[in-house]
Amino acid sequence: MRFSRLIADFVRRHWMHYASAAAMLATIAMLSVWVPRKVGAVVDGLVAQRLAGRALLLDLGELLAAGIAIYFLRVGWRLQLFSAAYEFGVEIRTRLYARLSLQGPSFYQRQRTGDLMALATNDADAVEMAAGEAMLAGFDGTLTLAMVLAMMFLAVDWRLTLAALLPFPFMAFAFWRISGRLHHASGQALNRFGNLNDHVQETLAGVRTLRALGLEQRSARQFAALAEQAAAANADAQRWEASYEPAVGISLTMAGTIALAAGGYLVWQDSLTIGALTTFSMYLGQLIWPMFASGWVLALIERARAAWGRLAPVLEEPLSVDDHGTIGTLRPGTIEAEALSLAYPGQAQRALDQVSFSLAPGQTLGLVGPTGAGKSSLLRLLLRQYLPAEGSLRWSGHALESYTLEALRSAISWVPQEPFLFSASIADNISLGRPGASPENIERAARLAAVHDDIMRFPSGYATPVGERGITLSGGQRQRIAIARALLSDSALLLLDDALSAVDTGTEAQILAHLREARAGRTVVIAGHRLSAVADADHIIVLRHGRIAEQGTHAGLLARDGWYAHQWRYQQLEASLDAL
Ligand code: ADP
Repeated sequence: MRFSRLIADFVRRHWMHYASAAAMLATIAMLSVWVPRKVGAVVDGLVAQRLAGRALLLDLGELLAAGIAIYFLRVGWRLQLFSAAYEFGVEIRTRLYARLSLQGPSFYQRQRTGDLMALATNDADAVEMAAGEAMLAGFDGTLTLAMVLAMMFLAVDWRLTLAALLPFPFMAFAFWRISGRLHHASGQALNRFGNLNDHVQETLAGVRTLRALGLEQRSARQFAALAEQAAAANADAQRWEASYEPAVGISLTMAGTIALAAGGYLVWQDSLTIGALTTFSMYLGQLIWPMFASGWVLALIERARAAWGRLAPVLEEPLSVDDHGTIGTLRPGTIEAEALSLAYPGQAQRALDQVSFSLAPGQTLGLVGPTGAGKSSLLRLLLRQYLPAEGSLRWSGHALESYTLEALRSAISWVPQEPFLFSASIADNISLGRPGASPENIERAARLAAVHDDIMRFPSGYATPVGERGITLSGGQRQRIAIARALLSDSALLLLDDALSAVDTGTEAQILAHLREARAGRTVVIAGHRLSAVADADHIIVLRHGRIAEQGTHAGLLARDGWYAHQWRYQQLEASLDAL
């Protein structure tokens, strides 16, 4: 969407705010042009010694009342306008957030987190200001300009007005030149702020690694360089913004000089009174605000356009996975994959190639194979994080894409190898997929995931905060909390993606046994390196380079004496050596 359409659309939807602001503004403008005329009349009255006593006091009282009314109206209309502008900021941020939460992993692979955060703060602010400050100054400036010019033309002297306006085309030319430069400079400033933000975000996320490698100094130097660049870009934008002012100042000074010379001549010729010349120079003074306002508005608009130029591509980028499905509830049934293939964007080799299987409800599928074989990729297809290049994936007789994403994903619990824990208590982290779960149910899930005893050793048990500001958990504890989270949410399909890799084999066996007991018809897919995790599965698929290399039951695969059987013997030997 173009920037002008964005603003026009917003103003149309919030026209009440803008209309009442404009009405108040029009009243102010009328009062403002009335004041100089009144002052001119009073001056003429005083010069001619016509005005004195009560009449003079009355005139002064009227001027004072007008001043007070102008003050309150100015406050009122700003309030109207700014409440609309804040609404605009909320809309932009909400749209951005909604879009970001719908995008899939391939989007995040290309975008930088810090820059996305800058979009939601800095860039959204810049666009918001176009609907607030810029509208305010634009409205006010244009109206004041129109009224003052009209008064100058009609009520004072049109010849004098034309003469005084001579320098203004030069100013318009200067404005046009400055705006082009400012647009570029503002875009640069926003980009560099994005870079800076990105550096901070990455440094904080990887602060332990940086420290471990002794790279703090280098990172600090990089930060300083980026901060310098951002400051230089901002200074450049400020320089162009500031150059509106001399253009206005020079034009107005020239206009004032012309007015004084031409006006003096007309007074001398007796075709203009001194009072009228006073009024005229007051009007000229009133032009200062609209002129500066136009410079300011242009600066704000250029900044907002540059920000919108960064925001729009993110807001308008098509979703990597469309949510066009219509079936809103998923009744658990058989999952059938037929000749599934997946190619990651920009990747020549397929991550999955012609993979077929069928998984009845309540069954367990084991996915094994060396690193990079395509195990996680298969789970990502089930989650519809990516779309298959070829082949079909059906669940309960319907293609996966015919379900709404919400229906599909709420039917699946996914435990990745490195689960994310939010900054909340352990209990809240476990009940993430089922908010409001009772403490008994949370504890039951934690016991099934063999993490209850660990939790009870934490300072405040289930209430212990984890995440960024909480205690640090071991990899195995995090994995088990994530498994408890998945078990509590009671979904039809459980995907464990190397989710027990950081758990010792004894605990793994315990969790798997619990899982079998508490499964209650739930379909499970266990992907991993450790074959002991899949030995009891109903069906095991061995993937190699994205293809099915072997498949069958544990016993069948052992009898085949292929990769699985070798790996099994090797891992058994390793386990018995560990036990020594
Ligand atoms: P596994 O889970 O078996 O270790 P993956 O499914 O993660 O294997 O990876 C399969 C192949 O796809 C690997 O060659 C890997 O490099 C590639 N791959 C995985 N994720 C991506 C991605 N997001 N973009 C490009 N290639 C990827």
